[in-house]
Amino acid sequence: MDREYNYAFKTEVPTLSAFDFKKANFDLEVHKHGGFSNDTCMILGCEQKALKGIAFCPNHKL
Ligand SMILES: [Zn+2]
Repeated sequence: MDREYNYAFKTEVPTLSAFDFKKANFDLEVHKHGGFSNDTCMILGCEQKALKGIAFCPNHKL
């Protein structure tokens, strides 16, 4: 689980200015859901792992 988590962060850093907010939100969502499922996010073109219990990654969950 830790390995997937770290890998996700490395692929999810678009710009420095957006990093802090995205990282904080990402972290919060992952914690709230207890980690990632084995499925990929349902958003077309998104290769991020989905959160446990839902079909979307932290970036596309609302
Ligand atoms: Zn996504």
